[in-house]
Amino acid sequence: MDCVFCKIANGEIPSTKVYEDDKITAFNDLNPQAPVHILIIPKDHISCINDINSENSDVIAHIFEKIPQIAKYAGLENGYRIISNCGKDAGQTVFHLHFHLLGGKILGEGLV
Ligand code: AMP
Ligand code: ZN
Repeated sequence: MDCVFCKIANGEIPSTKVYEDDKITAFNDLNPQAPVHILIIPKDHISCINDINSENSDVIAHIFEKIPQIAKYAGLENGYRIISNCGKDAGQTVFHLHFHLLGGKILGEGLV
């Protein structure tokens, strides 16, 4: 499968990793939309939120358990936003589940 985030997870494509363990990887977005813009992904391929199920949902809990640690490491003591685009209408461009961690400025009230 030709998936850029699978390749990042297994080291085939370079990335600026900020956190990694046996289940997940977090790395800087190539085209940051905020001073801090980190992508957090499961290492195993899941296409988007629609494909989360009882067999793979433990990794989602793991991601959310680690988000405070990753945010703290990135200096986001004053807050942050998590976004996950699912499908065409949301503008998803990489079909490997990822959570955008955004912060480092006041993000305002647009979306959302
Ligand atoms: P989305 O639109 O939610 O699918 O977001 C995909 C994100 O992946 C975008 O913000 C891209 O800038 C980012 N992206 C794509 N390729 C790479 C890459 N090789 N390394 C880091 N970020 C990437
Ligand atoms: Zn993948």
